[in-house]
Amino acid sequence: MITVQEHLCRIVDSVQRLPPVGLDLLEAQGCVLAQNVTSQVPLPGFRNSSMDGYAVRGADLVTASPAEPVTLPVVRDIAAGNTETLSLAPGHSMRIMTGAPMPDGADAVVPVEGTDGGLLEVSVSAPAAVGQHVRHAGEDIAVGDCVMGDGTRLGPAQIALLAAVGTGQVRVTPKPRVVIISTGDELIEPGTRPGFGEVVDSNGLMLTAAVRALDCTPVRVGCVPDDAQRILSTIQTQLLSADAVITTGGVSMGAYDTVKEVLSSVATMRFDKVAMQPGMPQGFGVLGENQIPVFTLPGNPVSASVSFEVFVAPALRLMAGRAQQETTMVTAVAAHDWAVPAGKVQFARVVLSRAHSGDGCGHTAALAGLQGSHALSSLAGANALAVIPAEVTLVRAGDHVNCHPLGPILEAP
Ligand code: AMP
Ligand code: MG
Repeated sequence: MITVQEHLCRIVDSVQRLPPVGLDLLEAQGCVLAQNVTSQVPLPGFRNSSMDGYAVRGADLVTASPAEPVTLPVVRDIAAGNTETLSLAPGHSMRIMTGAPMPDGADAVVPVEGTDGGLLEVSVSAPAAVGQHVRHAGEDIAVGDCVMGDGTRLGPAQIALLAAVGTGQVRVTPKPRVVIISTGDELIEPGTRPGFGEVVDSNGLMLTAAVRALDCTPVRVGCVPDDAQRILSTIQTQLLSADAVITTGGVSMGAYDTVKEVLSSVATMRFDKVAMQPGMPQGFGVLGENQIPVFTLPGNPVSASVSFEVFVAPALRLMAGRAQQETTMVTAVAAHDWAVPAGKVQFARVVLSRAHSGDGCGHTAALAGLQGSHALSSLAGANALAVIPAEVTLVRAGDHVNCHPLGPILEAP
């Protein structure tokens, strides 16, 4: 038996950030930059108005007051998109729109609200401070600034900034392409009602969805029966185009545990009992010319799901150039007693709620339902895994438990 930490360390030590590729900005959403991006342009690109109003010379308005407004002729309009070089003569004004280039000579904008809104001439009843409502070229980004560093994850805001400085393509770490293979004679395709002895391949869909939720690219191969040759050839074929392979089923101690049977003779694969519940039988290794990481997860749906969270997701994040963990653990108060297996880390499916008590805001954790490793209902009803250390044998109501969130944490009713 090895510890969860030992198994995880072996995995993270064997995976690497994927080599970079060039992608169009939108295709790169969710990816991590594999370059520093330096701006060739200033942002704003030119001096422009931040208000609809009148471009003026502040010096012309120093005496303006409600009692004695100053009237200036309006020479022309400047709309956003104007590309002419304009110059404002002393004693004049130009009607200007938000984002339009400031004419040379003008040093302030009087918002339309502070005027009579005149078209041929405008009456202004207050002085204008030099620089008011003017955005300066380069005040946000200067030419030569590093606008974004290697390792930055590209979300909507990052994509907007890269687009604004004129970037079309970026070098990024691609999203790992993750092949998902379900093994078992009993498995049938999702979308069919299972007959006696049949089991729907829920693992295949769960892992496909989990890989997608992690912002990686799932490739679901489907169900392969417990046939050594078929399992081996499916894995070998998929190794040619996969960045990682996940199998489920066939790694326990049973007679038809074929995944283990076909891969345990491979020197780069290891099959271990990991001191955890659920998820004890685990296999991991690298296969093929490209040393592709292969995770052979147990078939029980909850075991497969917990194994993905605990072992596969950290590896995929590292391959994608991200941090191994992206969520922080939440400490909660156990809402009731529950039993814990001796000598194993328990990953209990819990409902984690935010609770208000006398001493402020805290969290509570209550078991989500039947805890067997086959019980999908409690997995679907849980929003966290309470991680109970191996030395604990009983959780008592009121104990502090460490929880790994799986979804949003709601207010307790
Ligand atoms: P195994 O790990 O192959 O011994 O399977 C353990 C349990 O998980 C058995 O009850 C299987 O029927 C079930 N199981 C295996 N693979 C899947 C799958 N892809 N989807 C749902 N249940 C599965
Ligand atoms: Mg099986």
